[in-house]
Amino acid sequence: MSDDEAVEEYLFKIVIIGDSAVGKSNLLSRYARNEFNAHSKATIGVEFQTQSVEIDGKEVKAQIWDTAGQERFRAVTSAYYRGAFGALLVYDISRRATFENVSRWLDELNSHSDTTVARMLVGNKCDLENIREVSMEEGKSLAEAEGLFFMETSALDSTNVRTAFEIVIREIYNNVSRKVL
Ligand code: GDP
Repeated sequence: MSDDEAVEEYLFKIVIIGDSAVGKSNLLSRYARNEFNAHSKATIGVEFQTQSVEIDGKEVKAQIWDTAGQERFRAVTSAYYRGAFGALLVYDISRRATFENVSRWLDELNSHSDTTVARMLVGNKCDLENIREVSMEEGKSLAEAEGLFFMETSALDSTNVRTAFEIVIREIYNNVSRKVL
């Protein structure tokens, strides 16, 4: 490749939403830094991490935003959602209430974004099988009904974390490249 040949580069914003303590920060730190915090105290204020993935020989960067505790005050701002191309909506498989709140989060997401946003429903903490309150089938059928991708993950033992983020990133890339062509 000659020096003046442009390297195609993409940068997409992805937001992580869901109730407090479902593991949003740990999913991001597991994906971006391969770290897990058993006693993380969320700092207030929005934070993001940028992660690069190579797709079709192109560098695709995802700027992944974490609410960093805003949801504790029911105050996830429209600025948080603005410009997002993808969203991970997270619940905790060991706390049924967090699954029941998924529809509230979906309504909020829908009110801030259009339907082209790539969405995944994520049932986190699947390592806690012994205290599971939401079956995998329930997660799957809700995702199907709402047109979302679905995955169960564990930020603790890394199950499906990379896969979940990268399915969303790949879907965004496919949507955008379809539009460009
Ligand atoms: P957030 O408020 O949604 O950002 O949640 P955090 O990432 O701060 O996690 C809340 C709590 O759940 C912390 O004590 C984490 O250690 C714990 N946690 C997060 N992900 C997992 C997981 O996959 N499995 C288990 N067992 N605990 C997790």
